[in-house]
Amino acid sequence: MAEAMPDVGAGEVPGHRPASRLTSVNGFSVTFWVTVVVGTGVLVAAAREMTTSGPVARPAALAVLTALVVFGELRPVVTSRSYGEGVTPSIAFTFAIMYLWGPWPALLAQGLASVVADVAARKEWWRTLFNPAQYAISFLAAWGVMVAAGYQAVPTAVGSISAGDLLPMALAWVVYFLVNNAVVSAVLATYSGESLRALFFEDFGYVVVSNFSVFVVSPLVAVGVGMSVWWVALVLPPLFAVYRTSAMSLEKEHQANHDALTGLPNRVLLLDRLGRALADRREGRVALFLLDLDRFKEVNDTLGHLMGDRLLIHVAERIRAAVRPSDVVARLGGDEFAVVLPAVPDAEAAAEVAERIRVAVAEPFAFEGLLLELEASVGIALCPDHGTDVQQLQRSADVAMYLAKEERSGVEVYSAAKDRHSTTRLGLLGELRQAIEGGQLELHYQPKVGLGSGAPVGVEALVRWRHPHRGLILPDEFVPLAEHSGLMNRLTEFVVDTALAQAAQWWEIGLQVPVAVNVSARDLHGPSLTTTVARGLERHGLPASALLLELTERVLMAESARVGDTLAALERLGVRLSLDDFGTGYSSMVMLRRLPVREIKIERLFVQRLAQSGEDATIVRSIVDLAHALGIQAVAEGVENEITWDLLDDLGCDSAQGWYVGRPMPADRATAWLLRHPSQARNLRVLRGGSVGGSA
Ligand code: C2E
Ligand code: MG
Ligand code: MG
Repeated sequence: MAEAMPDVGAGEVPGHRPASRLTSVNGFSVTFWVTVVVGTGVLVAAAREMTTSGPVARPAALAVLTALVVFGELRPVVTSRSYGEGVTPSIAFTFAIMYLWGPWPALLAQGLASVVADVAARKEWWRTLFNPAQYAISFLAAWGVMVAAGYQAVPTAVGSISAGDLLPMALAWVVYFLVNNAVVSAVLATYSGESLRALFFEDFGYVVVSNFSVFVVSPLVAVGVGMSVWWVALVLPPLFAVYRTSAMSLEKEHQANHDALTGLPNRVLLLDRLGRALADRREGRVALFLLDLDRFKEVNDTLGHLMGDRLLIHVAERIRAAVRPSDVVARLGGDEFAVVLPAVPDAEAAAEVAERIRVAVAEPFAFEGLLLELEASVGIALCPDHGTDVQQLQRSADVAMYLAKEERSGVEVYSAAKDRHSTTRLGLLGELRQAIEGGQLELHYQPKVGLGSGAPVGVEALVRWRHPHRGLILPDEFVPLAEHSGLMNRLTEFVVDTALAQAAQWWEIGLQVPVAVNVSARDLHGPSLTTTVARGLERHGLPASALLLELTERVLMAESARVGDTLAALERLGVRLSLDDFGTGYSSMVMLRRLPVREIKIERLFVQRLAQSGEDATIVRSIVDLAHALGIQAVAEGVENEITWDLLDDLGCDSAQGWYVGRPMPADRATAWLLRHPSQARNLRVLRGGSVGGSA
């Protein structure tokens, strides 16, 4: 197959530089040098044979094919395999040369092509040395089996290749493919410590198909050239098509599995690699690191996200360079990274690697005249000690990371004792990822009604966790955990998606109330919220006015560049904002004016003390007046009784939410509630009454 010695990893630690390992005795150097010596010997023999055996037949045709081999080898292919490149079209021509002129010119042509391509791509000397040798061995083995099957090369006779020659040819392809794959996999396995089997069978199906699609063209090339060299032109388009398709599918696969910013594997590929590392584990341990940058947000907020992005790229390079090429480094999103060490002796060794990463990241970054410093927290989980499957390991690493952050220790190996003895919150954190992915979260909906009319003007979606053992858990217990562990994006994605799906059902039957979703500060630090909202609205065919995002004042006060960007993007989408828990922070009028804030929700505590405290009444009144001065709706939260309701009405508050109106309820009961309390009867397309139940 057209597999050459590939690029092994973007960054390599000095101690792992292959070139330096080639001067001592080790598995890698032995495999490498044996291949190089044998292969180069074969090439020297080929050259001698060619120079002593007199002039070749049809030199012009041979020259054209050789040129095509070189040209075909020069086409680079983007690759998503960890090792190995896609198919190059040159192999079809090399085989054709072999069918017509025998092995020697074929070996030399392929060797020449390989050197030219590697030099053009500025590959290191040892690769440039290895590739022609490896090709020579593979093609010679292929020729051996052809001869054994009774094949004879005839360069001149037109139509000399017959149907009977197809069998030796097919055998040659198989042998070539196996030998080539085995030699390349062997040298990589001894180099990186990965299992030979895993490397040999990596993306096997794809590799087989793309390689054999090129092989099967080779007899056609030979038959064509047998007639006239011009006939070769006919096979160029199909070969190019094979090349394009395989290059494109590799590119696509690459995009699906990699982070666009840093080029590192993404979550999908990480989980895949982790799964494989677990399956391949012999003795020793597999380590999973979760890594979170401690001060990235500050940098990002002060310097803007372009700088933030550039910084992330550097961080990615440093992490990559601090581990072995066979380790997997992935970016999970935002400032979250993960590392898998497929083979590590024990916890100390893993912690050492983590410490090395931390030191690498902590080294100040020189950036346009600034020196920036970052810190990282790393949580470590080991298989089999802290889990034997992907999920358990993730859970343990989540917990370890949380501990590293909380104890400011930098690196923390999972500890069952700490997990057990710490608060139940920590236990919950470990299960949260699974809860989000495994459908344990649900939304309840609480109506919001106009104070004058009592008609619903919206509903607020409030997330709940239906825990298999602990029953229903309220958001105050787990939303802060999500915020601190990097799970927030996933949680919000779920909430937005579910709320919009529900809104779509309601809008469908004429219950056109906007649904409010709570978002956290962390949600506004990246583009993912905007994407989730835009995609959700589109998928469910809803206008932007169907969604309201509730954020707390605190979030706005952070007023960072990133938050500003996200809010602006949401505004462009037409999504409106609601300021939650208003009165606890210090929003400025300027800020309220500038943002697309459509309502403010008066903090429950003020509302609840309304009847008792004159001071709170003053606060509520001034918030209502402020809102109206700015043309914004004032909503009272936590209205629990009629007295409060009446007072709010007197103060001119626009709408109210609270137990007096309706508790948060599951979707079906919320639907029933809305049907019983139509906001605009003309919108109702469904008959009311009937089977609706549930309590308000
Ligand atoms: P919030 O956005 O201020 O939500 C209002 C909270 O007050 C809800 O608590 C609701 O159940 C409660 N509540 C409503 N009416 C009354 C009442 O009359 N009396 C009293 N005492 N309480 C009332 P819940 O559902 O426990 O949510 C607590 C907080 O958790 C929410 O405060 C919100 O900040 C956060 N939260 C809820 N769901 C989500 C979510 O999906 N994403 C995010 N980021 N945060 C959420
Ligand atoms: Mg809220
Ligand atoms: Mg609130």
